[in-house]
Amino acid sequence: MSTLDLHRLRKVFPDGTVAVDNVDISIADGEFLAIVGPSGCGKTTVLRMVAGLETPTDGEIRIDGELVNNQTSQQRDIAMAFQQHALYPHMTVEENLGFPLRMAGVHHAEVRARVEDVARVLGLRDVLETTPRRLSGGQQQRVSMGRAIIRNPRLFLMDEPMSNLDAKLRAEARVEITKIQERLQATTLYVTHDQVEAMSMADRVVVMRDGKVAQVGRPIDVYRRPADVFVAQFMGSPSMSIVPGQIRLGGAGDGARYVLVIGPFRVPLPEAGPLNAWVGRELAIGLRAQALRRRPDGPILASVEFTEQLGSGQLVHATIDCPGLDVVADETVNPSSARSTILLNVDAQELVSLWEPIRLDVEVRETHVFDLVTGLRLGDLFDGPGGVSCPSRRATSAVESAGPLPP
Ligand code: ATP
Repeated sequence: MSTLDLHRLRKVFPDGTVAVDNVDISIADGEFLAIVGPSGCGKTTVLRMVAGLETPTDGEIRIDGELVNNQTSQQRDIAMAFQQHALYPHMTVEENLGFPLRMAGVHHAEVRARVEDVARVLGLRDVLETTPRRLSGGQQQRVSMGRAIIRNPRLFLMDEPMSNLDAKLRAEARVEITKIQERLQATTLYVTHDQVEAMSMADRVVVMRDGKVAQVGRPIDVYRRPADVFVAQFMGSPSMSIVPGQIRLGGAGDGARYVLVIGPFRVPLPEAGPLNAWVGRELAIGLRAQALRRRPDGPILASVEFTEQLGSGQLVHATIDCPGLDVVADETVNPSSARSTILLNVDAQELVSLWEPIRLDVEVRETHVFDLVTGLRLGDLFDGPGGVSCPSRRATSAVESAGPLPP
């Protein structure tokens, strides 16, 4: 397929809304890149500009190095799948698959051969004579992708293609789309607000916020080394808890040279990472749910506020006696409520009562450090700013590197 490069792409709508603001994204040949972010962050506008449905206010769109800003959608040769159920119900699978080619005036023998080809790759040969309503959700998904891909487009664009599916079908479709994309090696730009989709399907993710790129990288790198508090809380489920904290030199009673101070609590730290550089600085401490463990003599005292039974475990919402932090629009982190809420996982069978005081220990390997004012990542307590190495979703992927991280 092709490469796609967006350079300083910008879109200001006539009413003055800056939907996309200086976005730089490069997609390698055959790569699956997901744009993820909250509603209104500009994902769809980026996709629509690539598709030729919206004119950029500024910046460049290049396919295989060629500037395509002034080309129509047809000239760009792009396939789009916007919704899963956009199949013609009265046509058979064969007719649905061949439709774009017939519309383009391709000879019927060639149409037949290409339909055969796509049906073979997508495992649809046995249902070619069937109409869509007799297919399973996964099969419909494959027909819909097959129809988009049959023209051998240069790029494949998808905007929330699973938004109509129930949870079970969504899970199936995630696997289905990922497998097909890998098999076809189709250069794909995929837009979603669902971080689970982005994490599980894409080679790399672009996290957007307020029209800008907040971070680009492999899903596991973005999860492990979020560039700021916003990304940290957006990527990963449950969301990362953020509390104000400090690193201080430990006293004799702490039994450690350094301690992490969160409100009135002192957590002794192993001597690793760049702790000294952070001593005395106002920090925002990020705690993944798995960083917090119940332990009778744990250094943090929390009060249970709410529990969610998930079957595989329970998600406990607890509060601790230190001010809560809010991530606000200008990327700074502001004090909010009087108490911080933290999330932790406990066993599904464990008895947890409302308002019960519980003692917690902190697993420092899962603890992230951000600047309290800017919200930018400083590092993590154990690995430090250098970070960790993680396996790729695709062992053979050409794209292994994470995007740039702040210093
Ligand atoms: P969602 O997930 O809800 O679809 P999104 O991240 O895809 O959101 P966009 O649809 O790209 O966001 O919209 C980005 C911003 O631009 C939003 O503030 C939106 O209200 C605004 N916007 C989109 N289209 C227009 C338009 N035609 N005129 C004015 N503003 C627009």
